[in-house]
Amino acid sequence: MAVFNPGWPNQDERPHPDCINIMLGSDQRAMWGRKCPRCSGYWRTAAPGLIAKAVCPYCGEHLEPHECLSDAHMAYVEACCALLRQVMNQDEDGSFSIGVKELIEQVHKDGDMPAPPEFFVEVTRQTRFTCDACGTRNDILGRFGYCSTCGTRNDFAMLLADIEAIRAGVNAGGNTVTALKEAVDAFDSFGRNYARQFMAHIMMTPARKTKWGRSNFAQIETVAKNLKDDFDIDILRRIDPAHVEQAKRMFHRRHLHAHRGGIVDQMYLDESGDTTVQLGHLLRETREDVIGVTQAIAKMGKNLHEGFHSIFPVHQRPIDIHAEQQAKSRNGRNGLV
Ligand SMILES: [Zn+2]
Ligand SMILES: [Zn+2]
Repeated sequence: MAVFNPGWPNQDERPHPDCINIMLGSDQRAMWGRKCPRCSGYWRTAAPGLIAKAVCPYCGEHLEPHECLSDAHMAYVEACCALLRQVMNQDEDGSFSIGVKELIEQVHKDGDMPAPPEFFVEVTRQTRFTCDACGTRNDILGRFGYCSTCGTRNDFAMLLADIEAIRAGVNAGGNTVTALKEAVDAFDSFGRNYARQFMAHIMMTPARKTKWGRSNFAQIETVAKNLKDDFDIDILRRIDPAHVEQAKRMFHRRHLHAHRGGIVDQMYLDESGDTTVQLGHLLRETREDVIGVTQAIAKMGKNLHEGFHSIFPVHQRPIDIHAEQQAKSRNGRNGLV
């Protein structure tokens, strides 16, 4: 089995001279269901998988598109093959059809997903996102994962969206301490997602695995050093040293707000180097300081994201095609074409 499109450049060769073509239509949202043969994860994608290998959003496995057909698609392909065999053996002209509704109901009978009401109505997951890199629409369980076309992780785009919402709240007069906690928590979740991918895909000693399993991205000094030592990723790259110091201090302050009610303790004074406050003071945060730390988080996030993909490469072709299409549409809007 293979996926091919007779109309796509360089794809006009049939995968096998005696193969039969079976058309797999998209669902009602112009998406296709997919299932990973490695982790059994189910997702939907708006790309049929004709220009790059498919990538499982959950485990990151790179797969040929035909290897990750959904159960419904696979049942349909098998039914088409069985029908063709039956018709050929029968050797009679006539009209033949497949009971698709019954077929799909059979596929979904034992699973936890209800039978779709119509053929090719695939099952919606929790998060629909459009990949920033290649423009593909993905629909996945949970919130974070790989784009199933180019393999770019969506965590950084999600982090920027969270940061944007936090800044909007602060600028609208929201609580600055809450915003600081939310910003650091967003970065911690973001960093732990990458740590989990390192652990899943890179062979490590048990000690290193334990270290990354417990990694805390709210402690940026430690995590920055570990990322540099273990993976040659510098999350502080191209960030002004004064801005780095301000971010470190804000991360320490977040710890005090989260665990000491914002009251300065000796550990804060020792570790942060902050000489503007004294033991027992109640910390207050300014809008400018919170906005400043969100800017540092965005830069550190970008560095981690880029460093991660320097180790786990993406599929460049769909990204290039998307960039060309965007350039054409921009030029079109500007009247250049
Ligand atoms: Zn998978
Ligand atoms: Zn993508």
